[in-house]
Amino acid sequence: MIVDSHVHIFPPEFLRDRQSLLTKDKTFNELYSNSRSKLVTVEDLIETMDETGVNVSVVMGIGWTNPELAEKSNQYISESCLRFSDRLIGFGSIDLSSMNAVDQIKNCADIGLKGIGELHLDHQLFSEGGYELMTSVIQEVKAKDLILSIHCSEPLGHLYPGKGTNTPEKLERLLKLADGAKIILSHWGGGLPFYALMPEIKKLSESVFFDTAASPFLYEPKIFEIVNSIMGPDHILAASDYPLLKFSRIKNEIEQSNISNDDQKLILGDNAKTLFNLL
Ligand SMILES: [Zn+2]
Repeated sequence: MIVDSHVHIFPPEFLRDRQSLLTKDKTFNELYSNSRSKLVTVEDLIETMDETGVNVSVVMGIGWTNPELAEKSNQYISESCLRFSDRLIGFGSIDLSSMNAVDQIKNCADIGLKGIGELHLDHQLFSEGGYELMTSVIQEVKAKDLILSIHCSEPLGHLYPGKGTNTPEKLERLLKLADGAKIILSHWGGGLPFYALMPEIKKLSESVFFDTAASPFLYEPKIFEIVNSIMGPDHILAASDYPLLKFSRIKNEIEQSNISNDDQKLILGDNAKTLFNLL
């Protein structure tokens, strides 16, 4: 089974109203103010999945700061998952700054979403000292048997829209609160796996998955072999960040690596199959 563990879709009216949405939501503005950044609907996604041989995609929110847009996006993702029930898994967005973040997690579970994320903590948490907010979020995510996906940032290197500052140093603090919750750290965890050569960081990453979203824009292809050797294949989820790029680019990098066929199978879909309880 081939699973793309990180893609984004939007309701058709969001594509139409793109310009006005830019003024309503900070995260959307950062990610999509460049008109060359593509937005797609579920139909576009399914068509591309068919074209690139992806069986199942995991649809993420974008860490909306506007609760109304977050709600509309969650609803659209939920409806899309019902419509294409054998092809899609959905994650929902919550407003971490709100007093009822825990209720929003319940709502996401009630409409059939399997996880919360992709959270953009720069816009949602990192006015200094916000980590405590994550404790109740993590407890509720665990209670509902959901998965938490977090956008991560490299602490150095080139800047790009939405990069943010959720670097390994901050992730270490977050993981100390994780209490065994299932967590996906996006974009190779901003490089956190390199520090898993330190035993205490390896231990902290025991229930963590690293997704490969946008990898070719960030790292040389040899990152697949390197993280595979540090973390082991069962911690890696192949992911594109579509429509930023197509899954075939990620698949090619994996297939051209010296990772064994058995390990490639885990990374390309079997880990996701287990994590998301796919048939
Ligand atoms: Zn991201």
